[in-house]
Amino acid sequence: MNTLTSSTQLAIHGGEKTVTTSFPWPIFDEQEVQAVADVVRSGQWGNPDCAGLVAEFEQQFADYCGSKYAMTCANGSVSLRMAMIACGVKPGDEVIVPPYTFIATASIVLEVNCVPVFVDIEPDTYNLDPTAIEAAITERTKAIIPVHFAGLPCNMDAIMDIARRHNLRVIEDAAHAHGAEYKGRKLGSIGDVGSFSFQSSKNLNSGEGGIVITNDDALYETMNSLRNVGRLPHGQWYDHFNPGCNYRITQLQAVLLSQQLKRLDEQTITRDENGIYLDSLLADINGITPLSRGNVAIRHSHHLYIFKYDKSEFGDTSKADFVAMLAAEGVPCSGGYPHPLYKQPVFQQKNWMCYAIPESVDYSQTYCPVAERACSDEAVWIFQFAMLGTRSDMESFAEAIRKIQRTVNK
Ligand SMILES: *Cc1c(COP(=O)(O)O)cnc(C)c1O
Repeated sequence: MNTLTSSTQLAIHGGEKTVTTSFPWPIFDEQEVQAVADVVRSGQWGNPDCAGLVAEFEQQFADYCGSKYAMTCANGSVSLRMAMIACGVKPGDEVIVPPYTFIATASIVLEVNCVPVFVDIEPDTYNLDPTAIEAAITERTKAIIPVHFAGLPCNMDAIMDIARRHNLRVIEDAAHAHGAEYKGRKLGSIGDVGSFSFQSSKNLNSGEGGIVITNDDALYETMNSLRNVGRLPHGQWYDHFNPGCNYRITQLQAVLLSQQLKRLDEQTITRDENGIYLDSLLADINGITPLSRGNVAIRHSHHLYIFKYDKSEFGDTSKADFVAMLAAEGVPCSGGYPHPLYKQPVFQQKNWMCYAIPESVDYSQTYCPVAERACSDEAVWIFQFAMLGTRSDMESFAEAIRKIQRTVNK
């Protein structure tokens, strides 16, 4: 029975949770089990030619994204790495990346002996700020890696325009953005290469894995060779033409992905609709501001649902305490990255492996105020699987926030 006390008291203090739904992830049924079992029984677990079931999934994903080629690989980090090499970056080239993203976006730049240049994000979208990109371009700049953070499309019109004017390559990091759209086009299909991750937390997953998509024949051929120890498609087994590695996936992953892909569109639409609804609910709460969807037609894949928190409307409760309260109420959430990427030891301390970074580049001087504020004070993330809930789940997320606000402001 609900007593007044237990329903008004915060769950973190022993009261009742506002949200009692559980949100399973991954979502699968006998179809996935059967598909994987069939591969197990076939004994053809690997696929050294990347043909068969791997190629089948690649075709499905390319068709889904409306791009000419799709090429699977071990994960969504080496996918970026191969894309960069294929795009022709040379040691010492500068590559523009956001500071508010997963480490791989910037660490692969180091791996190919290039220099990550951190450019701040926009306060209302948390995506790369096109104006700041333009200001950061030097004669060494070779590429931009826009990250469609949380599944919200970057301002691709502006970014592609800058890239064209400065002759830069654009590699979209779409690790959060499977099935998301910008003006009717699938994310990942707009730049030179689009890169996706199939790691287990991602909206389309096979435990681990990644894929690149492109319309460019030459980029595809290079990446395809890099993935397969430098072989060429019609070359001999022992002929290696490029300094690549084995970055192939298994047929077990490929069939799992083919099954999961059938669910992706409906799941993405659900997350997007729930996101729009939650935006409208949270807009009414003082001190809570959903990120902006911009002013062009988009489909947001909500790998994360992000809102901005203002503690002054919550009795000066720190973001960390607020997030702990919200999680205890049953909302799957986090405060996200504690600081921007450039604060990581790999950049601050630049060890011997970072030899391509010139002395003049000093990340201790890097400061992106918007990313700093997002990390320390503002950003709260709700995880993608929670966005697969019902409209009434969205209402209970909003109610959980109101309950916290009422309590801390008492
Ligand atoms: C997950 C992720 C990656 C890397 O993907 P892995 O498959 O884990 O290597 C790259 N960029 C972003 C933005 C990611 O979230």
